[in-house]
Amino acid sequence: AFNFCAGPATLPEAVLKQAQSEMLDWRGTGMSVMEMSHRSDEFVNIAETAEQDLRELAGISDDYAVLFMQGGASSQFATIPLNLLGDKTSADYVNTGIWSKKAIAEAKRYADVNVAASSEDTGFTTIPEQSVWNTRADAAYLHYTPNETIGGLEYDFIPDSGDVPLVADMSSTMLSRPVDVNKFGLIYAGAQKNIGPSGLVVVIIRKDLLGKARQQTPTMMNYQVIADNGSMYNTPATYSWYLAGLVFKWLKEQGGVQAMGEINARKARKLYDFIDGNDFYANPIDPRFRSWMNVPFTLADDALNSEFLKGADARGLLNLKGHRSVGGMRASIYNAMPEEGVDALIDYMAEFAKERG
Ligand code: PLP
Repeated sequence: AFNFCAGPATLPEAVLKQAQSEMLDWRGTGMSVMEMSHRSDEFVNIAETAEQDLRELAGISDDYAVLFMQGGASSQFATIPLNLLGDKTSADYVNTGIWSKKAIAEAKRYADVNVAASSEDTGFTTIPEQSVWNTRADAAYLHYTPNETIGGLEYDFIPDSGDVPLVADMSSTMLSRPVDVNKFGLIYAGAQKNIGPSGLVVVIIRKDLLGKARQQTPTMMNYQVIADNGSMYNTPATYSWYLAGLVFKWLKEQGGVQAMGEINARKARKLYDFIDGNDFYANPIDPRFRSWMNVPFTLADDALNSEFLKGADARGLLNLKGHRSVGGMRASIYNAMPEEGVDALIDYMAEFAKERG
């Protein structure tokens, strides 16, 4: 079966098999990783190796702290303003879809939010050129969503935020291609797409941005506290952290983000080319900003949706239903989706269109 779910998403089979083989007895310790003290030498080694592998994969220098936090990406929507506003009151946000909107709504509880640009008037089918953004030099930070998982809209550029720290929700694009981390003040990513199990959220923060949390910030949301304690101020999500480490090792074996980027570009191109070349299917996104990770598409007749999904399920092409807010279909093709999965989907789509189109 090929699982096209947007998240929790398919994980590399090799990773799941390794986890299975180590589940009851991790390397002769007689314990599952799940049962280990987070302060044991064994687990500290697992945790540090995972961080080191992530640093290598993403090219993260010592100027940045890497935090393994909990509460998913959504908890960061509040954690970011609580920590980064410092003595400022306002922050800039770019609105390109449902996840941007959620980040904006939560930030408004703490900050004077300036929506510097929005593509809502286009139905979130494009990204406004940076030349028309109304950003402010005195903003505490500039937040954007490089890949809108639901809309399937992805930036093909990194915004230039000048001296203002750039903050990115990379939940659904992290590790899918090379990115220059040095351009960012903070990157965060919910794990359940390209990293591992849900609940875990990885935060990469430039160290000079630590230590600015508002006084009333919950301790568990204070980046300085989490950094000072090696993400072990409390009991971390140990098993998720371990699984993320296995995914990072797998990624390194695949050739890292450079190789992933080439494969992902090829997978996405194939699928979009097929959709564009077939009258029965359509994708509404400005071709320049089509996501490599999440490919929404509609059928010529919505009345055929359930039949399409039933046929897909029968072939082991799972979870193609679009997000409830936009309808239609969505194929999420993260790092762990093999190219054969995309080929199998295209074959099925071609057959379905021929029979029912
Ligand atoms: N941001 C983006 C871009 C997402 O795709 C998601 C989840 O799918 C989230 C945030 C929320 O993540 P979580 O469910 O881990 O809070």
